Order: sequence, then structure tokens, then C-alpha cells
Amino acid sequence: MNKKEIIAFLFGGKARFTLQSKKTGKSLTFRATRHPHDDKNAARVWTGTAGGWLGTIKKNMWGNVLYWYPRKETILQEHIIAFGWFVNHMENKQIEFMHCGACAVCGRRLTDADSIKRGIGPTCYAAMMATEELPF
Ligand SMILES: [Zn+2]
Repeated sequence: MNKKEIIAFLFGGKARFTLQSKKTGKSLTFRATRHPHDDKNAARVWTGTAGGWLGTIKKNMWGNVLYWYPRKETILQEHIIAFGWFVNHMENKQIEFMHCGACAVCGRRLTDADSIKRGIGPTCYAAMMATEELPF
């Protein structure tokens, strides 16, 4: 996935993904959600398992993603560090971004090749591309 595809995926609303370090082989899982009352260009980031709020990401008009995280959190520190690094290095080959086979928008299982490549199913992708809200 390229940077644009990753950003579309992260803001899908039901994004589940794993980051793996190519250097150490270690991987961490995450979720990114959107709340109806939130700014539409913002998403909340969580650990892959229950709980574990890791902060908020926001798109700016230049197509970059900014990340705010809770400073007081002592738990899950490595998730915060890993995600913070990833936000600034989305296309860096040292880190692999993987979705879990489910559409980032509706959560349904992905079956066709194009959907698997981008992490978003055909119906959700068409709807996403049809909206003019995406500022990138
Ligand atoms: Zn979908």
C-alpha cells in the first residue's frame, strides 16, 4: 500500500492493522476508529486488543497525518512509539503495514485482489472516492 492508500485505510472507520519491523520481526496490532461527533478528518487509534487508547490522528490539507498521543499513558508505550514513527515513515521499507483482511470501512472480509491490495472493499472504496471530503 502506498501512503495515499494507507491514509484512506486509516480513516475508514473500522481499520484493523499490524505494523511489523523488518529489522526485528516484531509486530504490533492496532485499530483506528472514527466517532460520529469527531472532526471527519480525525480518527482515534487503539491497540488491536480491547481498550488501549493510543491517541488521535488528524489529516491536514497537505495530505499528511499528525498524531497526538496521551502523555500520561504509561501502558502500551511501545505501541505509541511504533505508531508515532510509522506516521512519519509510511512508505519506509523498514516497516511493513498489513491489514487483517477486513474492509477498513465496513469490516467485511476482503475477497478480490484489488480490495485485498488496498484494504477496502469495492463498494466502500467507490463511496469513499465519490465523496469530496478527502483533502488529499
Ligand atoms: Zn467495506
